[in-house]
Amino acid sequence: HDQGHQPLYNALELSKRFYQAQLSRHDEGKRGIEYLKQRGLSGEIARDFALGYSLEGWDNLIKAIKPHSSIQQMEQAGLVINKEGTDRFYDRFRGRIMFPIRNHRGRVIAFGGRILGDGKPKYLNSPETPVFQKGNELYGLYEAKKANRSLEELLIVEGYMDVVALFQLGIPRAVATLGTACTRDHAKKLFRAVNRLVFCFDGDDAGRNAAWRALENILPELHDGRQAHFMFLDQGEDPDTLVRKIGKEAFEQEIKQSRSLVDYLFEALSQQTDINSMDGRARLSELAKPLIAKVPGQVLKQLMLEKLSQMVGITTEKLERAIQQKPAD
Ligand code: ATP
Ligand code: MN
Ligand code: MN
Ligand code: MN
Repeated sequence: HDQGHQPLYNALELSKRFYQAQLSRHDEGKRGIEYLKQRGLSGEIARDFALGYSLEGWDNLIKAIKPHSSIQQMEQAGLVINKEGTDRFYDRFRGRIMFPIRNHRGRVIAFGGRILGDGKPKYLNSPETPVFQKGNELYGLYEAKKANRSLEELLIVEGYMDVVALFQLGIPRAVATLGTACTRDHAKKLFRAVNRLVFCFDGDDAGRNAAWRALENILPELHDGRQAHFMFLDQGEDPDTLVRKIGKEAFEQEIKQSRSLVDYLFEALSQQTDINSMDGRARLSELAKPLIAKVPGQVLKQLMLEKLSQMVGITTEKLERAIQQKPAD
């Protein structure tokens, strides 16, 4: 079915090259280069990730790729927008640093665009298209695989800048979920690539919520031998700012010391309950059971039951009997 999408891939590839050319050759693109420099990014990393710049103005991309791509194809690829009630179109991305999102084969399937400075929205992403399903793609996975002969661990971060900054500073194995939660499909894809995931979301409420949702979505993928860890950053910090502050070695150390999924799960649940009271312990058990029931790995499931047993003060046998649900799949 990929064959039918060829015109879309072409339009996206042409756009990537156009945006790259604008960054390196156009006068206005110098603003983009200045911005990247100010964010501490090198020309080399810009090339590795094929970063570009979309000019201000309504139809620069349309004019540039029109000889090779029809306006319908551009629209289908999410590159242009139809002006409502007319048959006119305009460029979706204007005045932004462009991050091409590539699939596992390295083909451009979408873009993220960051505004220079403080305007809104800060990031603009391609819409869902026939070649781009957000809940299924991970920014940086292609680049991480290319940079590592054998990949054993992936870091999951929130943003484009986090992926690129970590890569440049010597940690070339981060992927971003593109502003959505880490879905079950993401989890499947991630565990197909490696056996160890380290979630490293921003030190803010959004990041902490994203971590919990990621935990819920990866539980059904936790077969024995697979691991997930969680890193929690200080308030206001994200992986980009942290790696620049403390450097590669200290960041690697933080990764090594990240919390295991089991520790994180029980810590989060015990914060919601008063484990010093009997009611609280009963509630903890009620909250934990459906989560534990999702885990397909028998060893991991047993470890979780033992931990819960210690916390609530009843035997694992009794807990096990209480967990009758089969793992969801
Ligand atoms: P920067 O460091 O450039 O300010 P960031 O990556 O730290 O950006 P966050 O605000 O932490 O930005 O957002 C994390 C990710 O969420 C972004 O990289 C982007 O993919 C997505 N995102 C953020 N704001 C928006 C938005 N307004 N619309 C769509 N996606 C967004
Ligand atoms: Mn954030
Ligand atoms: Mn950031
Ligand atoms: Mn951030």
